[in-house]
Amino acid sequence: MKIAVSACLLGEKVRFDAGHKHDHFITDELGKFASFVTFCPEHLAFGTPRPTVRLVNVEGNTRVHSNKTGDDLTNTLIHTSRDELSKLENEPLCGIIFKSKSPSCGMNSAKMYLTNGMSDGKEDGVFMAMCRERYPLLPMEEEGRLQDAWLRENFVMQLFAFDKFEQFKVSQPNLGDLVRFHTVHKFLLQSKDEKLYRELGNIVGNRESLSFEVLLAMYELGFKTAIGRKSSIKKTRNVLDHLAGFFKKELTKSEKETLREQIDDFANKLTPLIVPLSTIHLYAKKYDTRYLLDQTFLNPYPKTLALRSHIDGGK
Ligand code: SF4
Repeated sequence: MKIAVSACLLGEKVRFDAGHKHDHFITDELGKFASFVTFCPEHLAFGTPRPTVRLVNVEGNTRVHSNKTGDDLTNTLIHTSRDELSKLENEPLCGIIFKSKSPSCGMNSAKMYLTNGMSDGKEDGVFMAMCRERYPLLPMEEEGRLQDAWLRENFVMQLFAFDKFEQFKVSQPNLGDLVRFHTVHKFLLQSKDEKLYRELGNIVGNRESLSFEVLLAMYELGFKTAIGRKSSIKKTRNVLDHLAGFFKKELTKSEKETLREQIDDFANKLTPLIVPLSTIHLYAKKYDTRYLLDQTFLNPYPKTLALRSHIDGGK
């Protein structure tokens, strides 16, 4: 899996002061499962070290001004941002991680100023805005937001699901494969967006006998949109209730009660998601419930990332 990352987050000394903002979750955890492509439009434009720049709202247009001289540097930064974007376009990306608050890389977190120096809210950085337009369905986050356990879990799940779909696409699938793909993603999709899950089911049903190419393109759009939605405790709880329902006949009364308590404790933020999920996993193995064991919701990404072990992982 390939992820594009702001170079300074990988420890490259490309910030205005020749420093970096090494993010160890990205390099040490995600790095076990992904390779990185880096970008730094400001280093390319102005070298390192360099005077800082800011975004300025000039009559409704976003401009880039030097903090030192006030010079308008917009065109230079746009030029190198386009170069960096062209570099990314040659890569089979599964996601992008941006440095927060930067006038180039910030994701709705770059400060905008008025020409009189007053603050004018927050916007996408110049390069980030280009990426957002170019890749509307690609998983994207900024490192600041990834400190939040819930956003981090959602993003990592999205990355791995996106990668799965890309692998599926190049495997020359047929309609039967698409039905299977949809089936194993049932609970993951439901934990994101129940309505979209049903719409995807209708696409796979192909009542209008569309060609497989058209069907796959429609499915891709819906699937990538759905995995970009955030899960919630309520939606996850619904999924857990469904999963627990698979063992209605097998479990004793007290086993059912214990599982119910674990689900309640998760919904009340007393225990992390991993607790009821481990129990469900155990029963799925014990009773060889293949349908559940195949569900990506049970293993959406490598378990060593341990993102479901935090109480804050649900909202
Ligand atoms: S935030 Fe973006 S532009 Fe700034 S140093 Fe990092 S990679 Fe370069």
